[in-house]
Amino acid sequence: MLKIGITGGIGSGKTTVCKVFETLGIPVFYADTVAKEIMITDSVLVAGIKDTFGEESYFGDGSLNNKHIAAIVFNNVDELAKLNALVHPAVFRAFETWEKDIPSTVPYTLKEAALLFESGSYKMCDQNILVTSPMAVKLARVMQRDNVSEAQVLARMDKQFSDEQKMAMANYFIENTEQKSVIEQVLNLHQQFLNR
Ligand code: ATP
Repeated sequence: MLKIGITGGIGSGKTTVCKVFETLGIPVFYADTVAKEIMITDSVLVAGIKDTFGEESYFGDGSLNNKHIAAIVFNNVDELAKLNALVHPAVFRAFETWEKDIPSTVPYTLKEAALLFESGSYKMCDQNILVTSPMAVKLARVMQRDNVSEAQVLARMDKQFSDEQKMAMANYFIENTEQKSVIEQVLNLHQQFLNR
């Protein structure tokens, strides 16, 4: 089955775009949401995280000690790479399991991931879509959605490839600005994927 990756910078609106694809009956695998879930439920991953970052990575009730992990990886690329090396393969396993339950009548699936290109998981998709929005729009959206400062959003953006880097790697583009109809662009791409 055709696998389409979809990504975009923080606040670009990739989740919003995915919801439009869902209304057309296209199943979407939300890799970032799944990653958060399996950090608690995947026993192999949990064991790997405890081995690497200590037993204190989890509270007694099994929930993740986010602050502990964040304090280790936030400004340390080597530690972040260790975390990614544990989480990314686990997400990939979860994706394969998820895909097995998709009926064969479904024409294609979408895999939504903030770090699709950075993590290398775009290589496991047949085609990739990049959702773009102007910087000022992205900043305003995330500041409002997450109630955070501009500096906090910029710090998060700093961890991602620039739109220019991602544009060079994507096959399709959706411009998510107020002016340009997202629904129209999604319908257009949907038709292209059906015709493949
Ligand atoms: P993140 O990487 O942070 O998860 P994202 O790329 O998935 O972000 P969304 O969560 O889809 O982005 O959108 C960010 C915010 O902007 C949300 O509050 C969403 O409702 C809003 N938004 C997205 N697209 C539009 C649009 N075209 N018009 C108005 N608001 C929008």
